[in-house]
Amino acid sequence: MSKLRLEGKVAIVTGAASGIGAETVKTFVENGAFVVIADINDELGHQVATSIGLDKVSYHHCDVRDEKQVEATVAFALEKYGTLDIMFSNAGIGGAIHSILELNLNEFDNMLAINIRGSAASIKHAARVMVERKIRGSIICTASVVATIAGSTGHDYTTSKSGLLGLVRSACGELGAYGIRVNSISPYVVGTPLTCSELNMEVSEVEAIGIGSSNLKGITLKTTHIAEAALFLASDESAYISGHNLVVDGGFSVINSCVPSITK
Ligand code: NAD
Repeated sequence: MSKLRLEGKVAIVTGAASGIGAETVKTFVENGAFVVIADINDELGHQVATSIGLDKVSYHHCDVRDEKQVEATVAFALEKYGTLDIMFSNAGIGGAIHSILELNLNEFDNMLAINIRGSAASIKHAARVMVERKIRGSIICTASVVATIAGSTGHDYTTSKSGLLGLVRSACGELGAYGIRVNSISPYVVGTPLTCSELNMEVSEVEAIGIGSSNLKGITLKTTHIAEAALFLASDESAYISGHNLVVDGGFSVINSCVPSITK
C-alpha cells in the first residue's frame, strides 16, 4: 500500500468547526494526519471532531483574536500529539458590504483582528515551535480571490485578505532559513456558512452566483477542492513551494470578463 500523504503529521486547523476548515480536517485525517480543530464554535467543533474520530482529532477552543489562546492551542497540540508539522490558519469572517463613505471602523478593526492579526499570531506561535524543534513545517493561510481582484466584497474583507498575502510573503522570507514553508490559498466563491450568511442565501443559491460569474464551466467549486489545495501545500509534494498564493478560482482572476472571448 502506498504511503499516505500526511502519514503521522500533526496539524492545527483554525476555523475548523465549519466550511473549508472542517472539510480540510477530514482530508488531512484521511491522509494520515492527527489534527487539532481550533475554533470559537465549541458545539460544532466537538461535533466535527466526534464525527471524524477522537483517536485522530481533538477540539480546542481558540479565538484567534487572543494571542494567549493561539499560544495555548499550539501547546495543546504539542502535549497531545508531541509535535506540530502543519498550521492551517483558516479562521476568518466575512461581513456586510458597505460603501467606503459609510465604512464602520469598529467592524473594520474586528475583521482585521481575525483575518490578519489572527493569522499573524498563528504563524508566530507555530513558527516558534518549528524553529525551536527544527521542524521543516508547512504554514498555510486562507486568503481569497478578492486579494487579487477587488470589487465584489466589503472594503474591510478585501483589505484583510490583501494584507494577508503580504504577511505570508514576509513570513516566508524569514522562515525559509529554517526550512519552513509559508503559503496561502485563495478560493473563489464557495457555498459555506460564511457566504450564506453574508448573502443571506442557501448554499445552492451562493453556488449559482459563483457558477454565473465563473470562467471554468461545468464544475462547481466545493470545500473539497480547497481542502485538496491545502493537502498539496501541507504535503511533501509541494516541498520547494513557499511564498506562493495558490489561487483556486478556475481562472476567474486572470480573465477580463468584460471583453468578449474570441472563441465565443
Ligand atoms: P465558515 O464560516 O464556514 O468557517 C469559518 C470558521 O471560522 C467558523 O467555524 C467560525 O466559527 C470560525 N471563526 C470565526 N471567527 C473566529 C475566531 N475569532 N477565532 C477562531 N475561529 C473563528 O467559512 P468558510 O467559508 O469555510 O471560511 C474559511 C476561510 O475561507 C475564511 O478565512 C474565509 O475568509 C475564506 N474564504 C472563503 C471563501 C468562500 O467563498 N467561502 C472564499 C474565499 C476565502
